[in-house]
Amino acid sequence: MAGPFGVLRGTKNTGVGLSTTLRSLLGRNITEQYPEVKHAVMPRFRGRHKLHLHANGLEKCVGCSLCAAACPADCIRVVAAENTDEHRVSAGERYAQVYEINMSRCIFCGYCEMACPFDAITLGNDWELADLNRDQMIYTKDALLADPPTKDAYGMNRRAVTRGDEGLDSPLPVWLEETVARETTQRRATDRGQT
Ligand code: SF4
Ligand code: SF4
Repeated sequence: MAGPFGVLRGTKNTGVGLSTTLRSLLGRNITEQYPEVKHAVMPRFRGRHKLHLHANGLEKCVGCSLCAAACPADCIRVVAAENTDEHRVSAGERYAQVYEINMSRCIFCGYCEMACPFDAITLGNDWELADLNRDQMIYTKDALLADPPTKDAYGMNRRAVTRGDEGLDSPLPVWLEETVARETTQRRATDRGQT
């Protein structure tokens, strides 16, 4: 049973809570005129994903599936294929032939962005992602490479603001370059040993 100090502490906490409610009740009402006026999000807000290209037009994604492995919601599907001299899609040995994100499962944790060694996938600031059709919630590679649409299916204006490529073409950190180089060498040595 709570002693007198417990009762006092409970009363004080209840008072603090009620004062917050009263302040909100008596404060100024703020009505946001959505969708005409969009709510501004913080710069590090995590919204719709975007796949990025190098300045020369090649895709940054090399189909390594590290993002899919890191995703706790299991909503990324990557099918990799080999680049050839005649058909080069990415700067690496392989590229993502299929890259899909099931946005209806995504929890916007950003683990895919953190796992990607090439900054190929980032989460932008676009948050108008609702849809009436579940199939439309599976974003394909083409959709992810494109900028977010400026109008939705119902003709409403949509924010087209994404974080963009700002800072993403910066060189890889040295430790990461070394790791990628070491693993590539090891894999080639293993491949040679198997043939
Ligand atoms: S943000 Fe999180 S849940 Fe969404 S695709 Fe990336 S890793 Fe998966
Ligand atoms: S987005 Fe990044 S982590 Fe995911 S498959 Fe492409 S290169 Fe690998």
